[in-house]
Amino acid sequence: VRVTFTPIHRREGGIAGTIAVLQDVTEQENLEASRREFVANVSHELRTPLTTIKSYAEALDDGAMEDPQLAGRFVGVIRSETERMIRLVTDLLHLSRLDSREAQLRYQETDIAEMLEDVADRFSFQIRQKRISIRTIVRRDISTAWLDRDQIDQVLGNLVSNALKYTSEGGSIEIEAGRNSEGMLEISVRDSGIGIPKKDIERIFERFYRVDKARSRNMGGTGLGLSIAREIVKAHGGAISLQSELNKGSKVTFTLPLEKQRRDGA
Ligand code: ADP
Repeated sequence: VRVTFTPIHRREGGIAGTIAVLQDVTEQENLEASRREFVANVSHELRTPLTTIKSYAEALDDGAMEDPQLAGRFVGVIRSETERMIRLVTDLLHLSRLDSREAQLRYQETDIAEMLEDVADRFSFQIRQKRISIRTIVRRDISTAWLDRDQIDQVLGNLVSNALKYTSEGGSIEIEAGRNSEGMLEISVRDSGIGIPKKDIERIFERFYRVDKARSRNMGGTGLGLSIAREIVKAHGGAISLQSELNKGSKVTFTLPLEKQRRDGA
């Protein structure tokens, strides 16, 4: 609570009294703190690849260029760090567009079965490589829905990509769609992977929050996938949640209205 005192002066001099204003500023302060944290995170995430690129470029300059094998490896690192930065900046731009509500949703009637098959196909190479079995199930109570196909493709892509990243060889992934008790479209992506510790589940949709930063980075993660998914689902008027058990697996479920929705407040 912020308290401000304003004295009331008498025309003839002296003070007649004081006005005290009590203002609840917790929300403002929380917002400001999370904004500061976000900027610090962005700076750090951008600085890390830049530092790596700089040192590898210097090593090349200092003679590594003469050794073709070494030079090839160093250029490879520079390239993959550059790609990480591009991914990060692309994700940040997408988030900022969703934040400013600039991104108009382009609704189209979408065949759910086809959409799920499509996302599974997109990952078929990595799925085969890791010998993971994938299954898509569309319950009989659903066939089509109005949604922004590109955006929901990205949500599904982020979820399946996580399921793949955090599931070891030979595991399984299941994508299921149906109608929930409130009459909304409900889609879930379940994996038999490493799971998420209880204490982290609550914060997992926050920007840059990861269970294991180093591991996520090695896997090429930006730490923004789930927060982007949440913003897209919210823009549609739905909700997203995660259930997980350590060393057993995780399940992310999101809901979407079946009909076109206007954004809250719109
Ligand atoms: P990242 O780019 O790091 O994957 P996300 O926002 O997509 O970022 O996910 C945040 C964190 O949540 C990940 O770093 C990981 O620790 C955890 N996570 C997300 N999905 C899964 C999953 N299916 N299984 C286990 N952990 C997961």
